[in-house]
Amino acid sequence: MDIIKETDKEVWQAIANEQKRQENYLVLIASENYCSAAIQATQGSCLTDKYAEGYPGKRWYTGCENTDTVESLAVARAKELFGAEHANVQPHCGCSANMAVYLAVLEQGDRILSMDLAHGGHLSHGLQKNLSGRLYEIYHYGVDRDTERINYDELKRIARECRPQLIIAGASSYPRALDFEQFKAAADEVDAKLMVDLAHIAGLVAGGVHPHPVPHADFVTSTTHKTLRGPRGGFILCKKEYAHLIDEEMFPGLQGGPLMHIIAAKAVCFKEALRPEFKDYAAQIVKNAQAMAKALEERGYRIVSGGTDNHLFLVDLTQKGMTGKEAVARLYEVGISANKNLIPFDKQSAFETSGFRIGAPAVTTRGMKEPEMEQIAAVIDETLAGGPSDGLRRRVADLCSAFPVRPQQVEASV
Ligand SMILES: *Cc1c(COP(=O)(O)O)cnc(C)c1O
Repeated sequence: MDIIKETDKEVWQAIANEQKRQENYLVLIASENYCSAAIQATQGSCLTDKYAEGYPGKRWYTGCENTDTVESLAVARAKELFGAEHANVQPHCGCSANMAVYLAVLEQGDRILSMDLAHGGHLSHGLQKNLSGRLYEIYHYGVDRDTERINYDELKRIARECRPQLIIAGASSYPRALDFEQFKAAADEVDAKLMVDLAHIAGLVAGGVHPHPVPHADFVTSTTHKTLRGPRGGFILCKKEYAHLIDEEMFPGLQGGPLMHIIAAKAVCFKEALRPEFKDYAAQIVKNAQAMAKALEERGYRIVSGGTDNHLFLVDLTQKGMTGKEAVARLYEVGISANKNLIPFDKQSAFETSGFRIGAPAVTTRGMKEPEMEQIAAVIDETLAGGPSDGLRRRVADLCSAFPVRPQQVEASV
């Protein structure tokens, strides 16, 4: 931090402020987490300076012996962690991983069947303004009005109707376990490929607390920075038969030089996730999400689909006469960071929303357990009910200082 301060005071100040913000706010954003100091340091290493277009052993640049080592480690560990036949660790992000799969299996104008964005799907699964929505014909399945869960019979009916070349399983705000066998059956019936987008739940799968997609999917894409707790980036898993195709579409199809400092950090991330402690972490995430959902339900909040099987849940504010946008603004004032979110069949716009999304990965990384989840639920309830915000901000600050993120970094940057 001292070197940054000497070179660029403005950027240094923003980083120092962000370190304090991360320390003093409770992050309930389901897609955020804190990576380890080792992963942070690896991202800041000299590997950022190296061009390594190509793959280990087949590079277009001279001097790639060390980048070959880290990429080979990342690939081997990703395969081991997920029991996959092939891994590509070069995608700069989750969207880039998805795009590479589309390029590998689809022609322009082909049909994709994916989860409705308003029911929890992701922009890279066919938003009109996204490249996916511009290149392909997009069809959606969603959740049932009554159960607020995916209806697999309905999914199969839609698949028979639109006959997609690719079916995508995976979402950003779906609180229930995904049944990959059902997705595979739907894909087989219409001779489509199945891609599972594991971005949100990769850590839960790696930790053994969510059904595994690899036995069923042709392609699995993911991020490394959500529940998997690694650097910001993406990766792809596939069967051996698609290895060459995927590698070609990733480079030179979609990207140029891989981010070798990030790939090295992915290797560290996979190593951390292979440790037995990571299973405890993943299990605790789910316990914490369930504890928080239950505590809020007991305080009169409607939880979409009645609870959660994973790391996140959705709170429906319709009966509370408040929008999601309003709720998250109030929560941020007392030090809680959460996202507004559409609920299924929402009557509000995507900008206002009737709900908000809560996730447990980040607070679980801080070491919090069920008793703290109840305290957080109490603060959320009292904040939304309009209680005195001074006392509430204090309670959040006390929780934060009892469960620090990276206190030595904050100290070193003042
Ligand atoms: C987060 C997410 C992504 C994309 O991640 P980026 O790294 O932001 O591109 C893709 N798919 C799903 C389902 C996600 O939740």
